[in-house]
Amino acid sequence: MDYLPAFHKVAGKLCLVVGGGEVGSRKAGVLLEAGALVRVVAPEIDAELLAHKNVTAIISRFAPEHLEGVMLAVAATDDREVNQQVSELAQAQNLPVNVVDDPELCSFIMPSFLDRSPLMIAFSSGGGSPVLTRMMRSKLESVLPQNYARLGDFAVRFRELVKQRVTNPPKRRIFWENALDGLVSEKVLAGDEVGAEALLKQMLDDEDNVLQGEVYLVGAGPGDPDLLTVKAARLISRADAIVYDHLVGKGIMDLARSDARLIYAGKESSKHTMPQDSINHLLVDLAKEGLAVVRLKGGDPFIFGRGGEEAQALAAEGIPFTVIPGLTAAQGAAASVGIPLTHRDHAASLVLATGHLRDGQGLDMDWAMLARPRQTVVLYMGVNNLPEICRQLVAHGLPGDTPAALVEKATLPDERCITGTVAELPSLALRHQVRPPALIMIGSVVSVRAQLMPATAPAEAEAAADTALHAAA
Ligand code: SAH
Repeated sequence: MDYLPAFHKVAGKLCLVVGGGEVGSRKAGVLLEAGALVRVVAPEIDAELLAHKNVTAIISRFAPEHLEGVMLAVAATDDREVNQQVSELAQAQNLPVNVVDDPELCSFIMPSFLDRSPLMIAFSSGGGSPVLTRMMRSKLESVLPQNYARLGDFAVRFRELVKQRVTNPPKRRIFWENALDGLVSEKVLAGDEVGAEALLKQMLDDEDNVLQGEVYLVGAGPGDPDLLTVKAARLISRADAIVYDHLVGKGIMDLARSDARLIYAGKESSKHTMPQDSINHLLVDLAKEGLAVVRLKGGDPFIFGRGGEEAQALAAEGIPFTVIPGLTAAQGAAASVGIPLTHRDHAASLVLATGHLRDGQGLDMDWAMLARPRQTVVLYMGVNNLPEICRQLVAHGLPGDTPAALVEKATLPDERCITGTVAELPSLALRHQVRPPALIMIGSVVSVRAQLMPATAPAEAEAAADTALHAAA
C-alpha cells in the first residue's frame, strides 16, 4: 500500500474529494495544505470548505465524470456503496484512491500529520487502527511542545552558517546534535532566541564545541513518574549528569540517558548521605566541567527542598541555572487520597510547614498560627515528631476532634492514607507503623475524603476494625 503521494506531487494538481462533511473537510484540508486544487463533490458541503479559494464545489451526488482530470481521489462519504463506486472507478483508471476508514478499498493511505513546521511528522497504522494512530500522535504531541516549530526555524536559520564554519560532515552532525539536544534548544524552547544564538555562536567559536555547563534544579513531583512536568521529563532524558534524592522514584530515573552520570545525594531525614555543602560543591564542579546537570529533587525544589540554598551557591559561583517547578507532595497527596486542600465550606487558606527543625534544635513553631480555624495545615517531615506536634496544637486551641490524616508514599503504588482526629493521630501512626516520607494533613477538609472516596483505604478499614476490637476488649 502506498502513502499519500509526496506533497510536491499534489501541489498545483487537481484532486477529488467525495463527501463534504467533517471527514471530507479534514481530508480536503490535508490536500489543500499540500497545495492541491480540490474538487469537492457532495449534496451538502461545509461552508468553510466552500469558501476556500482552491476548492471547486460540485453540489451533487457522485457521478463517474467527476473523476475526469483528477490525479487522485478520496472518498469520505458515510455511504459504503458510494465509497466503493469511487474506489472501483478510480482503480480502473489507475488513479490512486483513499477511502476513509476502509483499508480494503484504498490504494493509498493518508497519514495524520503532526505539524511543527518546518518539522512534519506523519502517523499511520496502515489503515488498521485509527485509534492507535491517534494515541501515538497525542503521545508525541505532548513531548514535542508547540514551540518545537521554533526549533526547526532556528535550525534552518543557522544551517548555512554552521555549514560554512564546521566543514567536516560528521563533526557537523555532532555539532547539531549537541545544539539541538542541549542548552541551545532549551533556550529556543524557552523563547530566548537571542541567548540561543549567542550560545550557538560561542559553540562555533570553540573548536571543541565544549559548552558552558548549566544546572537545572528540577522538581520530580511526589513520586508517580506520570506526574513529572513535560519539561522535567525532557531535561532528565538529556542531562549529562543527574544528582538525585531518595525521594525521586525509580521509574523517573529510568528516563535518564544510559551514558549519563547518575549521582545519588541521599537525604533521608536523620541520615543525610551527602552533606548539603558537598552537594553544592558537586553541582558547581559538574557545571564547570561543561556538563548539563540536572539536580533532581522530590516534589518542588523550592518547597522544603533546599533548592533555595543550592540556587544561592550556584549564583555565588556565577553558574547559570534554571529552576523547573514540580508538584509538591501536598498536591500529589491531596489529589490522590481525595482531600481538597481548600474548600469553600471548610478552609480558605493553606499552610505548608515543616515539622522538622534544622539540626535537631527542637520544634520552634508558631503553634497559635497553626491552630487557627478554617485553614488546612500540611506538615512535611513531621512523622517522627507527631506526638509533640499534636499535643502542642491542642494546647494552643485546636479542637482535639479536628479531622486529620497521615499520607504515606503519596501517589506511589504502596501509598497509604490513615485518617482520624488530631488527638488520635499519634496512636494511629504507631499502630500502622507510618514511616517517612509521609505528610500530616490537618483540618476539616480531611472529612471530605469520606464522600470522595467512600470505599477506599484498606488501612482505614483496618484502623476501624482495630478500634472496634479495642472497644470490645
Ligand atoms: N520538596 C519536596 C519536599 C521535600 S521534604 C516537595 O515539594 O514535596 C521531604 C518531605 O516531603 C517528606 O518527609 C514528606 O513529609 C514529604 N513527602 C515527599 N514526598 C512524599 C510522598 N510521596 N508522600 C508523602 N510525603 C512526601
